[in-house]
Amino acid sequence: MFLKGKTALVTGSTSGIGLAYAKALAAEGAAVMINGFGDAQTIERERAQLTEASGAQALYSDADMSDPQAIAAMVQRCAEELGGPDIVISNAGIQHVSPVDQFPVDRWDAIIAINLSSTFHLMRAAVPLMRAKGWGRIITTASAHSLVASPNKSAYVAAKHGVVGLTKSVALEAAKTGVTVNCISPGYVWTPLVENQIPDTMRTRGLTRDQVINDVLLAAQPTKQFVQPEQVAALALFLCRDEAAQITGANLSVDGGWTAA
Ligand code: NAD
Repeated sequence: MFLKGKTALVTGSTSGIGLAYAKALAAEGAAVMINGFGDAQTIERERAQLTEASGAQALYSDADMSDPQAIAAMVQRCAEELGGPDIVISNAGIQHVSPVDQFPVDRWDAIIAINLSSTFHLMRAAVPLMRAKGWGRIITTASAHSLVASPNKSAYVAAKHGVVGLTKSVALEAAKTGVTVNCISPGYVWTPLVENQIPDTMRTRGLTRDQVINDVLLAAQPTKQFVQPEQVAALALFLCRDEAAQITGANLSVDGGWTAA
């Protein structure tokens, strides 16, 4: 349990990749603050399981990642009630699929706020706390779409490219402080985010569900397999190790070879 005594804050961790991050960190003894939306009983069950797994306290924050004040308050609450955060994983994300001329302005604004600006607000609040301790790990969840584009995902691709630039910039600022800042860029991971975009893609491209899965989603992924959330979480855990102290400002792909093509 190499993270005993450490505190981790993971945004968007009531589901999918975020929940896998939280479970992996708790399994190594970290006190975890989870965040996101969903059914209250399910979230409480997950929180209790994280406490049991880590042997440390786990907390839940319902902070909305599109609200800068709520993000700052969440980091402050984490510091007051758990200590830290020593590890921050910015992971909350949403998607909308539409050609640019039909892209609803409110969806653009929401994707930029939740997928990009929330990461800035998190870093802004957390970096001083980590710098004071002389140790910290910030991990942002970008995407293969931080490196390459797909049609009809203008906001998502713009936000994810932005996350990489933000990550690199803050990595340089923190380079001498014991704080590393890295990006993980998954390919297609089988989570509700992927599942939920299937109906939109079926509609906009006139395809069946099987065609969307095999010919659209996995078309770009040479292994022809979805990435598993636990495989993404395993890389995040490695980044928290002392052996990873010289990895900073990196954008690390876990994409079945997608961006090698
Ligand atoms: P998911 O839909 O399973 O989970 C998203 C999480 O974000 C949930 O916990 C949800 O409640 C939370 N969330 C959404 N809006 C929020 C808000 N306003 N405030 C707080 N929390 C909010 O999605 P996922 O697939 O696990 O995606 C997680 C991250 O990984 C996202 O940033 C996504 O862009 C990225 N990603 C996913 C894939 C994939 O194939 N699933 C691939 C590359 C990158």
